[in-house]
Amino acid sequence: MRVYFRITLCCMLISLFLVACSGGERELVKVSWSPQELKQGEVLFVTVRPEAEITSVAGDLDGTPIYFYKQNEGGLAGIVGVDLATAPGQHYLRMEVKDPKGESFEQVFQIMVREGGFEVQRLTLSEKMVTLEGEILERYLAEHRKTKEIFNQVRLERLWHQPFICPVDGPITSSFGLRRILNDKPRSPHSGVDIGAPMGTNVGACNDGIVVLAQELYLEGKTIIIDHGFGLYSIYMHLSEMQVNEGQRVRAGAVIGLIGATGRVTGPHLHWGIKLLGARVDPFSLVKAVAPRE
Ligand SMILES: [Zn+2]
Repeated sequence: MRVYFRITLCCMLISLFLVACSGGERELVKVSWSPQELKQGEVLFVTVRPEAEITSVAGDLDGTPIYFYKQNEGGLAGIVGVDLATAPGQHYLRMEVKDPKGESFEQVFQIMVREGGFEVQRLTLSEKMVTLEGEILERYLAEHRKTKEIFNQVRLERLWHQPFICPVDGPITSSFGLRRILNDKPRSPHSGVDIGAPMGTNVGACNDGIVVLAQELYLEGKTIIIDHGFGLYSIYMHLSEMQVNEGQRVRAGAVIGLIGATGRVTGPHLHWGIKLLGARVDPFSLVKAVAPRE
């Protein structure tokens, strides 16, 4: 059997097919994705609609796997994050499906990633404010190792079954991806969004999941991390109170803590972050990517 790789570049609605040719063409799956205009720090939502009998579907974006799950309408869906520091330009979505005979069909789609257009903030602070030393540095590094280990774990189960929601109402006081330049040196970009709200306001879980960290960290203050499965984590920092324990299951919207100003901050707000298989992505991109189709 000859296999045809049909490469098609689309800017409009993507509607492409994996095609196997044996005398006549037959469509195995239809792959589509959104958003079409993908930017650094955004989540790509990929759907696969079988057009013939298939036994497995696998996919990845530049080697980062996409964990597909069944959708209501009989198709499959999966999400993958584009880290905020991903180089703009062409990236590759690879799909592989198998038919009942065990034959596999692969196709590669080009995905254009555009500049995130992140804001730049220049600050001048005393060196003491921007440098960690001695025991404080040791503590920070130990905490960083611990959270890194958490983010490296992938629970092979999807715990969310509904759209993602914003944990608290309020204005964005510091945008996602903000490039911070302190004393003329670039610092790590802002990996979440800061939402301003009065001290003591309820903070809700952005979706169903399991609390995997509830701890006071040096820079981040009282911090909760929720594992939503498939390598997706939500992070809530600077809380005044944490109202859940590690290992606890939470539902979307359940109060997990209260707005505070713990850690290195200047006033009460929530820092809300999302990590998807290590990619730092805009939480609102996740809200948009998953919401309309579930
Ligand atoms: Zn922040």
